[in-house]
Amino acid sequence: MRTTRLAPSPTGALHLGNARTFLVNWLLARQQGWRIVLRIEDLDGPRIKAGADRLAIEDLQWLGLDWDQGPIYQSTRQEKYSSAIRSLLDAGLAYPCVCSRKETLAAASAPHAEDGSAVYPGTCRGKYASPEEARRLTGKPPAIRFAAPAEIVRFDDAFLGPQATNVATELGDFVIAKADGTAAYQLAVVVDDAEMGVTDIVRGDDLLDSTPRQILLYRAMKASERIPRYFHLPLVVGTDGRRLAKRHGDTRLAAYREAGVSASRVTRLLARWCGIDAPAGIHSRDLLDWFDLSRLPRGRAVFTEQDDAWLRGR
Ligand SMILES: [Zn+2]
Repeated sequence: MRTTRLAPSPTGALHLGNARTFLVNWLLARQQGWRIVLRIEDLDGPRIKAGADRLAIEDLQWLGLDWDQGPIYQSTRQEKYSSAIRSLLDAGLAYPCVCSRKETLAAASAPHAEDGSAVYPGTCRGKYASPEEARRLTGKPPAIRFAAPAEIVRFDDAFLGPQATNVATELGDFVIAKADGTAAYQLAVVVDDAEMGVTDIVRGDDLLDSTPRQILLYRAMKASERIPRYFHLPLVVGTDGRRLAKRHGDTRLAAYREAGVSASRVTRLLARWCGIDAPAGIHSRDLLDWFDLSRLPRGRAVFTEQDDAWLRGR
């Protein structure tokens, strides 16, 4: 059985941009008969906002999206992640790192991507026999990094087409456990997707460079046969070309709901960003008849002030 997941992160409310990705994910799943798991990605400690998980669930339901299993909270699954991290360490595929973020940035030759993170230069690779030893010698609790092999990772994205990345040189050895022992995003997602039988992942193209890293983790965990099919969708941006965020006004679904905007009206705007000119009064379920991935615009959808005014009926 093919399976996908809706995976909101309760670090903030759902806005129109996330909502559009979730809608496409749901439409594909319901058209193709995939099972849907709802997974709350709440590992990002201090950035998690209390109650944001309930709000995300409410937002998804308000949009008319449903799922077959969950919610499953990542924060309840740390034991599974720890055991995967331990196996990777034992196999020599991961290593402890005691570098601070500052050191990592200073030692890196080239800044990477828009988030300003840098390619980790591998300072601690091969330096310590174990996390315990790293801690004893440096007095610092180590993070754990995956040792990226020197090879090009290829995959065929179901929306973007063939992709190729040299993780070692373009992205570097990446963190799979933070210094406090919590699993990092890449590791947790792969452990979960593999165990939950996820076969199809639909997400924003801001996560495109996570995919080759996750593929390496599947291989390292000897789960290559479980590598899912990926669909990376262009994000919704503001008129400044930057991804939808607070600077573009309050685009939270909750804000529109509170302002009396109907789910149907929001769905119509989301549908337009999917290449569908939907009539008034439609619901997500109605879009199942019209949605066609091949007609999803290839470029980024742009949210304008006129869109906001239209939603609010001005
Ligand atoms: Zn290091």
